Amino acid sequence: MYPRIQLHSGREKSLYFRHPWVFSRAIAKVPKGIQNGSLVNVVDASDKIVGTGYYNTRSQIALRLFSFEEMIVDEAFFVKKFKEKLAFRKRFLDLKTTDSFRLIFSESDGIPGLIVDIYGDFVVIQIHTFGMDNLRSIVVNALVKVLKPEGIFERSDLEVRKKDGLPTMPTGVLFGKEPPKEHEILENGLKYVIDIAHGQKTGFFLDQRENRLALRKYVSGKNVLNLFSYSGGFSVSALKGKAKQVTSVDISSQALELAKKNFTLNGFDPKDHVFAAKDVFDFLEDMAQKGQKYDVIVVDPPAFVKNLDSLNHGTNAYIKLNAKALSLLNEDGILVSSSCSSHVSQEIFRTILFKSGLQAKQELVIVEQKNQPADHPLAINFPEGEYLKFAVCSAK
Ligand code: SAH
Repeated sequence: MYPRIQLHSGREKSLYFRHPWVFSRAIAKVPKGIQNGSLVNVVDASDKIVGTGYYNTRSQIALRLFSFEEMIVDEAFFVKKFKEKLAFRKRFLDLKTTDSFRLIFSESDGIPGLIVDIYGDFVVIQIHTFGMDNLRSIVVNALVKVLKPEGIFERSDLEVRKKDGLPTMPTGVLFGKEPPKEHEILENGLKYVIDIAHGQKTGFFLDQRENRLALRKYVSGKNVLNLFSYSGGFSVSALKGKAKQVTSVDISSQALELAKKNFTLNGFDPKDHVFAAKDVFDFLEDMAQKGQKYDVIVVDPPAFVKNLDSLNHGTNAYIKLNAKALSLLNEDGILVSSSCSSHVSQEIFRTILFKSGLQAKQELVIVEQKNQPADHPLAINFPEGEYLKFAVCSAK
């Protein structure tokens, strides 16, 4: 039994549709003295329990729900959930060729505010919210029970925590061993080293796994440019697809050092390829001046649209970027473009590609389109969790 938070009459409707958020304006009555981050039961106007979750006045989303019934959120709940989610991942992943995947994708997996990424024997967690922050130790105990990992590492160095009223951004070992500086993982038969403690996000962009694989079929014998390459995920996959030469561009020289290691690890000599630690926009300008062209260009930038206020500005940045990339393509070239901004819908993404084509005076055809993989599930009750767009485009 948790404290009960009562909704205004009719406001329980979204919970019947199994949407896990309740906004503060839907709340009629809150028990006295309730702490932010507390576990609560949500009741409708007739006092019937319609959900269990956690409460926070600091966030516009005052309630985030684990379930749409009464339940206890304890270690047993997490053990059951992690087992179920692991079984789900195993149905859609070939664990002989891939040992790294997202086990929990927050609301989309019914655990709001928690990310769990598995990198072989190591587990990395991210905690986004006050409510989940309170549950850290039982989450860790449950992960140990289900996964028996070598170590669990926290990477909650996330600005979003401040919005929830959490002043700290904890990182570090929560269980077992410190992860090695270079931890080797396997993705679709390729090896990558990742830096769990200091790499970007939780160390690797697992969400592009299937898109990296999709790239392979377009690159045989081609000169490939990989923009925003990070540690060379798409670059190494292009080489596996028999690309002739790959140019990797990223503003972070550490990322490119990892990329070089990843080339070597898979039997490709970094010396045969080009690495540019540069701003992509400057790089594209330089190449345009030199008249350099490519057969395939991969564009996978960080989110340019971080919130709705920046939708216009960010959309224009995507258009400028993709148009510039298109203008560097050889005839019969291929643009492989992606966006990870959740505020950019599939429809807006199409418009971005269309306008980029107009600017570059090319009429494009989308030859393949993909989105996020099953380990970043697109839960139909939670459309806010849809974020990754990916399109392979060719001139008509
Ligand atoms: N494609 C990568 C993930 C890209 S993440 C993969 O498959 O793993 C975005 C990358 O863009 C980060 O590595 C970041 O360092 C880089 N970045 C951000 N802004 C940049 C800029 N203006 N120019 C070049 N790289 C940039």
